[in-house]
Amino acid sequence: MLDVARIREDFPILASEVNERPLVYFDNSATSQKPQVVIDALVEFYSRKNSNIHRGVHHLSEVASGEYEASRTKVSQYINASRPEEIVFTNSTTGSINLLADSLSRSYLREGDEIIVTEAEHHSNLVPWQMACERSKAKIRMLPMEDDGSLSVERLKGMIGERTRLLTVSHVSNVLGIVNPVEEIGALASANDVMYVVDAAQSIPHLPIDVNRIGCDFLAFSGHKVLAESGIGVLYGRHDRLLDLPPSQGGGGMVNKVTMERTTYADPPLRFEAGTPNISGALSLAVALDYMSDIGLRDIIEHEEMLTAHMREGLERFEGLQLYGTADPRVPLFSFNIDGIHHYDLGLVLDKMGVAVRTGTHCAEPLMERYGVKGSVRASLAFYNTIEEIDVFFESLEKAVVLLG
Ligand code: PLP
Repeated sequence: MLDVARIREDFPILASEVNERPLVYFDNSATSQKPQVVIDALVEFYSRKNSNIHRGVHHLSEVASGEYEASRTKVSQYINASRPEEIVFTNSTTGSINLLADSLSRSYLREGDEIIVTEAEHHSNLVPWQMACERSKAKIRMLPMEDDGSLSVERLKGMIGERTRLLTVSHVSNVLGIVNPVEEIGALASANDVMYVVDAAQSIPHLPIDVNRIGCDFLAFSGHKVLAESGIGVLYGRHDRLLDLPPSQGGGGMVNKVTMERTTYADPPLRFEAGTPNISGALSLAVALDYMSDIGLRDIIEHEEMLTAHMREGLERFEGLQLYGTADPRVPLFSFNIDGIHHYDLGLVLDKMGVAVRTGTHCAEPLMERYGVKGSVRASLAFYNTIEEIDVFFESLEKAVVLLG
């Protein structure tokens, strides 16, 4: 069992008050809070190790370069990549998918090719593909979600045809919270020789990620959603796929040889890391992933299953509440509306009671359209949240409904 009281002591912000109430932070899908070890690692880096990487022979540059590359190794081990060179550091999930979509639009995608995306994708895993289609004249095809928010592999199978070149899904939707069958989809993509891209932004803080088991060609996530600093992201790419990929940005650090006439590019991953990267961010990500491993994903999952069940029970009992996405398995992330009350007003009143939730479209407008709503409230929990906080959340929700109703 997770010793949550002890774990909470690692996160200074969790002890704070908002509007004279103890903070109940249920906006973890937007960004996670940071443990003291991550904060300390950043202070330590800027106090003792700061230097630019890969370009200096002096001591500090060697130290910073070594730690940056050690972070790459750590990330590769955490997601079971075959080698560190399969990890490209970017600034976020958004940065990773834009890099990939841009490169593919200039190399892999051709006029008339089809890209399958799901109806539940975050704009970050939709708009870059639309932009890639504008450049390459490829086309987007949308896989609709089932009524319970699940993804039908059968329906997907029926959509794959001769022109399907790429298939992308989120491991967990940031609205529905349901875990998609990414391994089964991986097998389907592989059997049909379709490039497979997974958006793991919402699964990385909750589930073990094993790129080999998933069978993906590419996978993206953000550091800030898994306890690290913001401004650091990861694009995992299978080595042979990365070797085939042209760079998306030019600049220092991504070249072999430059003349006025012609430039040759470095091997992956440096080919995709033009300019000075987020060095401290990469270090913070390694520390964050170590922290996750030290706690243990098995215990995290067990605790989160308890939180999920308690939330689910409360939401189902709540009068006039509509939950978006009811299928299992899921992570503790729930989007809902309450009859007759605007989601924005609910969010504001909950904040007055110290409860932080997100309101709006959650950057998933096609899915909002599917449900015929302008937005929703989203409560998203992490392993450092408690059953007691869920009870405070429901008491506050009841008061908010009385006030607004
Ligand atoms: N994909 C999903 C499923 C997300 O939930 C998010 C952010 O909420 C993103 C992509 C984009 O992440 P970022 O803003 O860190 O690039």
